Amino acid sequence: MGIGMTSQRTRERLIQRLMDQGITRVEVLEAIRSVPRHLFVDEALAHRSYEDTALPIGYGQTLSQPYMVARMSELALARGKPRKVLEIGSGSGYQTAILASLVDEICAIERIKPLQERARKQLRALRVRNVRLRHGDGLEGWPGEAPFDLILGAAAPERIPKTLLDQLAPDGCMILPVGGDRQRLMMITATPEGFVEEVIEEVNFVPMISGVAR
Ligand code: SAH
Repeated sequence: MGIGMTSQRTRERLIQRLMDQGITRVEVLEAIRSVPRHLFVDEALAHRSYEDTALPIGYGQTLSQPYMVARMSELALARGKPRKVLEIGSGSGYQTAILASLVDEICAIERIKPLQERARKQLRALRVRNVRLRHGDGLEGWPGEAPFDLILGAAAPERIPKTLLDQLAPDGCMILPVGGDRQRLMMITATPEGFVEEVIEEVNFVPMISGVAR
């Protein structure tokens, strides 16, 4: 692997770019600086891993764009550090690794078995210990582990899934893309008066699909 492509300087350029795009939280920038994104993609794509773009991870899925991972992480921390997090669509495990350094505990669900297995291997190699990965349908949530302070989706359901709202802690929040052709990143906060929905920005994620794939 061309060492230059994954060098500290290349990574610093990405951090600078994220700062230019308005990412300000030091913990988030530090997490992106320290997690080796090139280990989460195919070797043939490693030279592009510190570009601010989504990259294919196989099975028609993509590793999220660093800006989006950073933005969602900032939103996740906006109301203090979440203790228990449910991540839906862990894919390569990259975003999981970033989040793992920012929160106490993550339960992560992925519907494509080989991706889930690969992510598990990678997270173990990086000695990330506060993550539990499960092969399953994230639209069902993880009832046995609920409630969650934060639910984060990396794939877009057509509508906000009620099942997931039910698994939020009383003051929890959910951050996920919602919609079909036109998707919007949404932040839904549980309050004593009910759920408050906020549209963050237009986004483009893979769809959240029900059921599992082997
Ligand atoms: N954050 C991931 C992004 C992966 S793309 C990364 O950094 O690699 C989104 C992932 O969501 C895909 O792997 C897809 O298989 C998964 N997904 C889609 N619908 C799902 C569902 N219902 N349950 C669990 N995972 C789902």
